[in-house]
Amino acid sequence: MSRFKRAAIGFAAMFVFPAVLSAEPPPVPAATPATSTTPAMVPILIYHSVREYTPRDSAASRRYIITPRALEAELKFLKAGGYVSIGFDDLAAYVEKGRPLPEPCVIISLDDGWESQYKTAFPLLRKYGFRATFFIFTNAIGKKHFMSLAELRSLRDAGMWIGSHSLSHPYLTRIKNRAALRRQIFDSKRILEEKLGEPVTAFAYPFGQYNKEIVSLVRQAGYTTARGTYFGVRHSRGDLFTLTGLINVTSSAKVVAELDQAAKIEKRERPLVPPPGIDPGEYN
Ligand SMILES: [Zn+2]
Repeated sequence: MSRFKRAAIGFAAMFVFPAVLSAEPPPVPAATPATSTTPAMVPILIYHSVREYTPRDSAASRRYIITPRALEAELKFLKAGGYVSIGFDDLAAYVEKGRPLPEPCVIISLDDGWESQYKTAFPLLRKYGFRATFFIFTNAIGKKHFMSLAELRSLRDAGMWIGSHSLSHPYLTRIKNRAALRRQIFDSKRILEEKLGEPVTAFAYPFGQYNKEIVSLVRQAGYTTARGTYFGVRHSRGDLFTLTGLINVTSSAKVVAELDQAAKIEKRERPLVPPPGIDPGEYN
């Protein structure tokens, strides 16, 4: 059985048979030799707001909200299954240099820098011993509903990773002016590095949208990985700047459905540009 299938079944078992899982966590698969020719099968979970729903939340916006209870259920499952959280640089080191990854492992990422991530997700991550990558668009730092610089620094101090999510969270594919496009990618990295005093190596495309020119600029800026939002869990050397994830992880059932979907999609060749409408509005 493949690593992915074991992971997917583990996920499914958590939610379909929680009583079974709590009695006997799934076995941790034995480590397999890692080489750069073997794709990594690593779920990259993508979260946005972490809070209770309110009556004002539309059905569309609820796709980008996970309740604290649902998030805790997922983290609890990952812990019980022996998952180790890794960073994007760990994934790059595996596919480029064959540096082994812990098995099973997961990347946890949270987009946009919402304050709810600091107040709610951060304590839960610490409670269960996980590290996560927070993708920040720099114009939002310190604004209402978003994290302050001090909060970002305390994430960093607690071992969390900070990645760039551009300056202003535009559709990068719609920016015609190359200098303006370049600023979104280059300046956001520089600003975060200046504010945090450490290298920022991961980028997440706003709305998951990119094209060849954008990917090229992300490489030139010195990032080592970039994540979209298109579904998938298989990551190879050629994918480091078009990494796929599992978006809209908003409920236990959704996780199972999306892992199933990812298993189907991973068998097909992925287009460079995600299909239109894959992420019509990341936040509302
Ligand atoms: Zn975003």
